[in-house]
Amino acid sequence: MKFKKQIYGMKAYQPGKPIEEVQKEFGLKEVVKLASNENPFGCSPKVKDFIVNNGMNFAIYPDGYAQELRTAVSQHLGVDESQLLFGNGSDDIIAIITRALLYPGVNTVMADPSFSQYSHNAEVEGAEVRKVPLKDGKHDLEKMLEAIDENTSIVWVCNPNNPTGTIVSDEELSSFIEKVPSDVLIVLDEAYFEYITDPAYKDTLHYVEEYPNVLIMRTFSKAYGLAAFRIGYAIGQSKLIAALDPVRAPFNNTVLSQKVAIVALEDQQFIQETVEQTEKGKQQYVEFCNKHGLKYYPSQTNFILFEVKADSDVIFQEMMKRGFIIRSGNALGTPGFIRVSIGTEEQNRKFLSLLEEVLKEQGVLA
Ligand SMILES: *Cc1c(COP(=O)(O)O)cnc(C)c1O
Repeated sequence: MKFKKQIYGMKAYQPGKPIEEVQKEFGLKEVVKLASNENPFGCSPKVKDFIVNNGMNFAIYPDGYAQELRTAVSQHLGVDESQLLFGNGSDDIIAIITRALLYPGVNTVMADPSFSQYSHNAEVEGAEVRKVPLKDGKHDLEKMLEAIDENTSIVWVCNPNNPTGTIVSDEELSSFIEKVPSDVLIVLDEAYFEYITDPAYKDTLHYVEEYPNVLIMRTFSKAYGLAAFRIGYAIGQSKLIAALDPVRAPFNNTVLSQKVAIVALEDQQFIQETVEQTEKGKQQYVEFCNKHGLKYYPSQTNFILFEVKADSDVIFQEMMKRGFIIRSGNALGTPGFIRVSIGTEEQNRKFLSLLEEVLKEQGVLA
């Protein structure tokens, strides 16, 4: 068959291992997944009430324009309804953007390591991927500017960055945006927006008002605890959103997920509690790293990337045997490190005590 030539040799996305698989493989009763930055506190209890008592008709197609959700999010953010594009997760938004702007002969600039879907989708479209190494875990915006040329269509800023959790400060971001040519789309991926506490980050919505080439992505998958429902969205100027919209699949959000996102959005108390608990949980990891002299990156997210001074794959395997699924740095472009999603206080405590045991066994700790 006549596939695009770039598809040959590409691999499908490798997700964190499913809990059931690990339970079966190692004969474990309880397995905790701290691999995909999901919310260990679940989602708003109001969502569960809604799912039991909603009286919806599942035979009818969803509203492709997601009108009700659109109204709720536009009011929540204080932007116009026409400035929003909804996707089946931000993953879908990334696919829409790349499908609309990338093709063989153009290039796209991103940090490395960063979220894998930018390069993955760019490769599917046959565009050139320009990866600019992080500088001490942070975006090297100077080098990213240098990588941009007349054939650049998109530049990605993952803020905070996955897998390092670091942010680009508002000061750095504003001078960067000013210097990027006005015909290059700047995507600010803010999947962890709700978790940011560092005052050096300032709300970015005003950039959308000032620059027609800025697009912000946010999601209900992380702090809102709705990863299973697949709702992400983009915020941009109406003209930009209208230009991207024809590329979107007609019914890319389900009826139930649209409703559930509205219910979750109304429960900001849940988000506040999630952020507070996550902040405390992160401190458990920071203390562990400090105590044992392990390097870590300052994280503004619900995960932390830290050094294990051993083969990350071995630590990943050993922790899996003990009932914890995490991400090996080898899979993320950060060998010698592991990425752990912040769990509940008890999960974190148990994880760290088992990790200490493993690191002793491996001769890393005395
Ligand atoms: C998790 C994540 C996403 C994907 O989120 P979905 O809305 O679930 O598709 C996007 N970007 C980054 C940086 C992420 O970590």
